[in-house]
Formats: sequence, structure tokens, C-alpha cells
Amino acid sequence: MAGAVAGIGGSTAVGTPGRLRYVTGQVILDRDLFASFGPRDAEYAQAIVDHELGHVVGLDHVDDPGELMYEYTERTTYGPGDREGLAKLGSVDC
Ligand SMILES: [Zn+2]
Repeated sequence: MAGAVAGIGGSTAVGTPGRLRYVTGQVILDRDLFASFGPRDAEYAQAIVDHELGHVVGLDHVDDPGELMYEYTERTTYGPGDREGLAKLGSVDC
């Protein structure tokens, strides 16, 4: 992957506006970057995976640097806004 991109996550939704359902998703990770990680980087590596999985389930980037879904975050865990977004996504009917 080029530049500062460590991973890409996304999904495909089908349905009508207001009734979209995610039917597939994927995460692509920078193999070379992950291969360069040492044991001390495990928390950072997990944060990248969690960020990309956030995209898979429907979260987008946010402007708040205190959230894991901030594009250039330094967080290693979901922030309060991330968790609020995940709760909203998880509260819709299946
Ligand atoms: Zn992202």
C-alpha cells in the first residue's frame, strides 16, 4: 500500500435509502507494514484492524482526533464516539 495507508476496510450495502443492509465486507492490510511490526506494536496493529473493521460495519471517518475512526488517529481503542456509532449501527433491525 502506498504512503501512510496501513489498511482498507469496506463493505457493500444493498436495499433502499433508509433500509440499507450490509451484505459483504473486507479488510485489506499492508502486508509489509504488518511484517515489520514487533511485539511492542501489537496494540497498534490491533488498532489498525479495529479501525478497518469499523469501516466494514458502516462507520466512516470522523473529524475528532480522539476517536479511533479519525483517519490519522493515534488511539489504540475505540473512543466514546466510535462506540456510540457502533451502538447505533447495532440497534437497527436485522
Ligand atoms: Zn479509515
